[in-house]
Amino acid sequence: MKTPRILHVDGDNYFVTCEEILSPTLRGRAVVVAGGRRQDGIVLSASRRAKAFGVKSGMACFRARQLCAELVVCPARPEVYRQISARMFAVLNRFSPLVVPVSIDEGFLDLSAEADGAARWHELSAAVSREVGLALSGGLANSRWASKLATDAGKPGFLEIAAGREKEFLSPRDLRELSGIGEHRADALAALGARKFSDVAALPSMLLRQRFGIWGQKLWLFANGEWPEELLAEVRPRTMISRQKTFSFDVRDYCRVLQFGTVELKKLLAQLRREQLAPRELGVTVRFADFSEASAKHRFRVAQERDEIICAMFAAKFRECVSGQTKSVRQLRVALWNLSPQPAQRLLFP
Ligand SMILES: [Mg+2]
Repeated sequence: MKTPRILHVDGDNYFVTCEEILSPTLRGRAVVVAGGRRQDGIVLSASRRAKAFGVKSGMACFRARQLCAELVVCPARPEVYRQISARMFAVLNRFSPLVVPVSIDEGFLDLSAEADGAARWHELSAAVSREVGLALSGGLANSRWASKLATDAGKPGFLEIAAGREKEFLSPRDLRELSGIGEHRADALAALGARKFSDVAALPSMLLRQRFGIWGQKLWLFANGEWPEELLAEVRPRTMISRQKTFSFDVRDYCRVLQFGTVELKKLLAQLRREQLAPRELGVTVRFADFSEASAKHRFRVAQERDEIICAMFAAKFRECVSGQTKSVRQLRVALWNLSPQPAQRLLFP
């Protein structure tokens, strides 16, 4: 087997750069793209100049304005960012037979067949910059995990982990940098005394296997630089469908919230019907004005195809969430999962 060489690419300040592509007069200025309830709540992306003032993603806009008086706030335009993303991936597709997108501005490319992966990266990033106007950061290594860590370490810019140097690269790094590790696993590892990859590498592999199953074994091999992994085209079937409604004002009337929720649920059920799927589990989360939450879920005995039964169960679970409460509701989330294919016959002869 040829050693895998996986390139991870990630757009720099992606949303802001999209705004600059559309309005070149924004270049070089302190710009943020903002989202949230009224499109001006939370900073989603900040330009380099805005960052120099201390402005960061996730910050409230009023705070960002306090830090930077000249700040330009652009409301988020997801549809436009998706169009630019499609153009970016069209360019990436010319540089590799396999490109696996992971988010709007991020993806993996298989460069295993290239004699010089770093040279290929330089051609590719120049093409994306010239043809689309986006600046990319990149990481090249022998697995998805490693190449993403390389991007994050080298950002903005490019970093390659040379073959055989993986363990050395990982050793001093914090385990929390690993994408998808999650608070829960990071805390469980810290309880074993493992905060860095070098700590994991020094633990007995059996212990990791016992505590974390297959994932633990993979992590141990990875920390020891022994986890080369080919890039696979992922066909991820839908495993969950959900909708969230944030009210533009806090609602005290629970009947109205339930009505809104039922409308959202019916949209989900219509979507599932188009995809010929039926849910077996349902969940409701209610977020109150003081940010406290209540949630409830239900598992049907078999995948449930009848909308009226699902809606009735949703109403029951919603009442469970708000029973005994007096607080206003700020946000409602409905989710359906454990999806199975609906028998085609039922669709034809309901
Ligand atoms: Mg990015």
